[in-house]
Amino acid sequence: MKRRKLINHIATATGVATLAACGKTTTQTISTDTDSLPSVKWKMTTSWPRSLDTIFGGAQAVCDRVAAMTNGKFTITPYSAGEIVGGLEVLDAVQQGTVQCGHTASYYYVGKNSALAFGTSVPFGLTAQQQNAWYYHGGGLEIMHKLYSDFNIISFPAGNSGVQMGGWFRQEINTVSDLNGLSMRIPGFGGEVMKKLGVNTQVLPGGEIYLALERGAIDAAEWVGPHDDEKLGLHKAAKYYYYPGWWEPGPTFEVQVNLNEWKKLPKEYQEIFKSAAYQANINMLAQYDALNGAALAKLIAGGTELRPYSQEILQAAQKATFEFYEEKASQDSNFKEVYQQWKRFREQIYKWNTINELSFAQFTFNNSPN
Ligand code: CA
Repeated sequence: MKRRKLINHIATATGVATLAACGKTTTQTISTDTDSLPSVKWKMTTSWPRSLDTIFGGAQAVCDRVAAMTNGKFTITPYSAGEIVGGLEVLDAVQQGTVQCGHTASYYYVGKNSALAFGTSVPFGLTAQQQNAWYYHGGGLEIMHKLYSDFNIISFPAGNSGVQMGGWFRQEINTVSDLNGLSMRIPGFGGEVMKKLGVNTQVLPGGEIYLALERGAIDAAEWVGPHDDEKLGLHKAAKYYYYPGWWEPGPTFEVQVNLNEWKKLPKEYQEIFKSAAYQANINMLAQYDALNGAALAKLIAGGTELRPYSQEILQAAQKATFEFYEEKASQDSNFKEVYQQWKRFREQIYKWNTINELSFAQFTFNNSPN
């Protein structure tokens, strides 16, 4: 396949005529024909059970698109959590070269560098749309690449769930004091804020949540949203389903690639990989938005009790969140640098989205013409 044909093949496969790199659309010349490109076989470990078609599907989408766009010459096989390494060990496996790449969430690794949380989602942070704006045109991708260079990794957004749900509770919680002493599965900074509100927090991989909740080892658990939570069976282990997931307003999932392996790839494969990640990023969000409404209706019909977080809890959580950020910033200059950049971006986009998105949604979502 000659150069022009390869470009046409890519354009057809992705629906775009240009290749996107690092948030900036480029029209790089591809100088080699595919006959001279090598056969490459990679493994991708993930943080997800295979049963989650949406989130594991994000990993699968990257692999499928890469294979399709290279005419099967660059193949990546995705593995579920536990098949190669545990769901929370993806970064280590990619860093050490156990696998070439992984599909995971950066906030699982805040113990290694707390600023990694901004790559996924942080409490009272950015929605999916805002998160994409930060990543692709707000300096986010460059920040994450800098953070991950310490781990010999390069990462790209490759999925988003949209605003998540606020978790499953075995008992109703109305006040901050109701949270005190509860044991909850909640990772990342959401977990840190919950600790400030008196919750004992745990991080469990998705596949282990149901049993812990069902057996009463934990009192509450959050995962993603109706479609995924039902697949994990969480509605069978707890009755009350809270919203919104204020700690995860637009979590970005990502592909991580070992930098040595990345540098070995021909430029064409790097560009194809980036395009596949873009596509997975958009596709997962669309899939969640299309599926979650029906899944929620089914859960409610099956006896799930939907509850909004009270204003008291939301206000206390927001206050605790920004106290937590300020504390972190005062202790950790690395965190402070990312936080301050992110906070400026957040303030600006919140103002803009209050004018356009929120004003539209507030009236329209709540007012039927009939
Ligand atoms: Ca979650």
